[in-house]
Formats: sequence, C-alpha cells, structure tokens
Amino acid sequence: MTAVATLGSHCALQVLKGAKDEGLKTILVCEKKRERLYKRFDFIDELIPVDSFLEVLDSKCTKILEKNNAVLIPHGTLIAQMSTEQIESIKIPVFGNKWILRWESDRNLKEKLMLEANLAVPKSVKTPKQIRRLTIAKRHGAAGGKGYFLTSSEKDYIKKRNQLIKSGLIKGDKDLYLQEYVMGVLAYLQFFYSPLDDNLEFFGVDKRHESDIEGLARIPSQQQLGMDYISSFNVIGNSPMVLRESLLDDVYQMGERFVEAAKRLVKPGMNGPFCIEGVYDQDAKFWTFEFSARIVAGTNIYMDGSPYSTLLYDVPMSMGRRIAREIKAATRQKKLDKITT
Ligand code: ATP
Repeated sequence: MTAVATLGSHCALQVLKGAKDEGLKTILVCEKKRERLYKRFDFIDELIPVDSFLEVLDSKCTKILEKNNAVLIPHGTLIAQMSTEQIESIKIPVFGNKWILRWESDRNLKEKLMLEANLAVPKSVKTPKQIRRLTIAKRHGAAGGKGYFLTSSEKDYIKKRNQLIKSGLIKGDKDLYLQEYVMGVLAYLQFFYSPLDDNLEFFGVDKRHESDIEGLARIPSQQQLGMDYISSFNVIGNSPMVLRESLLDDVYQMGERFVEAAKRLVKPGMNGPFCIEGVYDQDAKFWTFEFSARIVAGTNIYMDGSPYSTLLYDVPMSMGRRIAREIKAATRQKKLDKITT
C-alpha cells in the first residue's frame, strides 16, 4: 500500500484529507511547534515531528517514509525552505517532476519554459537604465511578493532599491528581476496533467489578495501622491473566481502547450498539478508572468471541488484528492515511476 506524505504547511490539510478520502495512509512531517494544530485532524494517520523541515533529507525520516512506501507531495513550503540541490537529493519518490522545480525557482529558466510554451510573457527589462514605462521589480525565488515594487524610471528604481537594501531584504541589483507591468485582471489558472492517460484537466481559477498593493486602491489619489513608501505584493489569501466561458478554450490550449513544452525541455515533463499565473488585459489577452510547477495554495479554496472540477467528477474533487487518485491508479498499474521522480 502506498502512503501520501507532505510537509506540515501550505496545503498539507487539503492534500492529506484528499488522500484519506481515497483510502490512503497519510503522513505529515511536522515542525514540533505546529503539532498542536495538526493533531486536531483525524485524517492524519502519522506525524513525524521535526525541528526543521530539512530533516526530511535525513536518514531517520527517510527510513520511516520508505517503510511506508510514501510518496512526498511537494508544495510551496518545500520550495521556499530547501535549495534546488536539496530538493533534487530527496531519496523517496516525489510526486510530479522534482527536476522542474529548479525551473520554477530560476527566473531565466522560468522565462525560457514559458516562451517555449508560446505563452505571451511580459517583457523583461534587462537593466534599470532601460526602464521606460511602468515596471515591476521582483525578488528571485518564491519570495511571495514581499519587497516587490513598482517603478517607472531609473531614478525612482534606485531610490526604492536602496530602501530595500537598507531594510535587509536584498543585497543589490542582482537580487531583483525587472518586468514590464501589465494592467488588467489577475488570474491564477490551476491544472492537473496525468501522464497515465495523457490528459489535461483544468481544475479551477483563483484570485490572490496581496498586501498592501490592494490597499492602495482604497486611498484617494491626493493621499497617495504624498506618500513616501514602497508598496508590496505579499500574498495574504485567495478567493474563488470563474472565467467567462468563451475564455476556457484558450485556457486549455495554454495548459496543453505548457505540458508539451515541459516534455521537451525538462523530462519527464509537467506531471501532476501546476498553475499558470498572469493577467487578462483589456482585450482579454492573457499575459503569463509566472508558473508554479506543483500544487498551489490557491487550490485550498476548492477543498470541496471547484466549478470546473465539478464538470469532470461526480464526487467533490480537491486537487489533493486528485493527486491521491493518480497515485492509486499508478500503483494499480505498477507505473508509480511514471508519476514520480
Ligand atoms: P510566488 O512564488 O508567490 O508565486 P513570485 O515571487 O514568483 O510569487 P510573481 O508571482 O511573479 O512572484 O509576482 C507576485 C505578484 O506580483 C503577482 O501575484 C502579481 O500581483 C504581481 N505581478 C508580477 N508580475 C507582474 C506583471 N508583469 N504585471 C502585473 N503584475 C505582476
């Protein structure tokens, strides 16, 4: 019997609840300070208490997971707390493609994959000197939007960059990536690709609430003008969204192109959950500024299924449960190696 394991954070509750609904054993690698929280949930069969998530690399933790034939479900906390090399060195099977997580963390590789998928990507601005119009400065890695800022000239950029250096968030220019800002409606498109039956499912779409950039819209422009501060895009939460039905065909096509591109550039490809993240502009054209090559926290709003998963399944299907179904199907077909790395 296969077990499902994950780190205690991000979307662990959804993942393990989904696994339990599918009848699989559930294991949580849990920081001791959070044991109290996770012990409240009966669907978690076993807790492995750790002082730090890095212990998932140690032989003690590995042995317990191996003994249970556990598949580890990677999520945002794994990416945020481990280096690419550490993730790649995990010994137990990782759901999806652990090699593609390097492409998620590195802005240059990320852009390469999005362009290979023929997605419209906002232009990157190579140096601060080339800032001509509204531009967003983003930190490398999954910084969750903290310390990101908008700027429209080199002079303004330097001022804000220096403030960030002073606050210790960055060391210098090389820690920032500049990209043209696209105005419109933000949408985070959630997909699941199964290599077992070569099928892509559009699972849901969410909006992110980011602080304090959202708060700016509540302040009259007279007050905004007098403010001397740097806005931020710190993700606070997510809310559900549905798209105009006429946009759905394009959504599926973007997802399929992404899956095909990933097969070409980073084998075995984009297996399992992923998210294409961007902005619909005034012509309803989608500009992709980012992807996540694993389950995103925005799927937490659909623990009971989303309007789109309802079209595909007759039972409430969360992304966590969909992952568990894939593991069960692969185990039955003796193809676990096809869905893990
Ligand atoms: P995470 O890892 O949490 O997904 P990240 O560090 O990779 O975040 P992005 O997702 O690229 O950063 O950007 C964070 C936020 O900044 C987005 O959710 C969006 O609000 C805004 N943003 C980023 N790029 C653009 C862009 N080109 N145009 C408009 N808004 C943007």
